[in-house]
Amino acid sequence: MECLDCEKELIQIPKKRKKEFCNSTCRSNYWQKADRAKKNEGVIKPKNVKKVKVDKKSKTIPPKPESKWIVKERPKPPAHLSGLALRIWKDNNK
Ligand SMILES: [Zn+2]
Repeated sequence: MECLDCEKELIQIPKKRKKEFCNSTCRSNYWQKADRAKKNEGVIKPKNVKKVKVDKKSKTIPPKPESKWIVKERPKPPAHLSGLALRIWKDNNK
């Protein structure tokens, strides 16, 4: 049996309660770590879920309509073009 905190080998005394820690400092250290690990788990899990959801939204929903509008509005026929030249320019910029 080893100390659950510092992993030092413990000498078990027969007929006495099993030793899990070499002293009270190790005992409280161990439970503090266990407590922190539990709290960290609770904090990390919902954060990861939220981050994934936000990333998916920003990647899929807003850029698509915006980029479509920008592409459609950008090409404006040059002012000096008219008639056939303007029609050819429009065909090339569809
Ligand atoms: Zn110890």
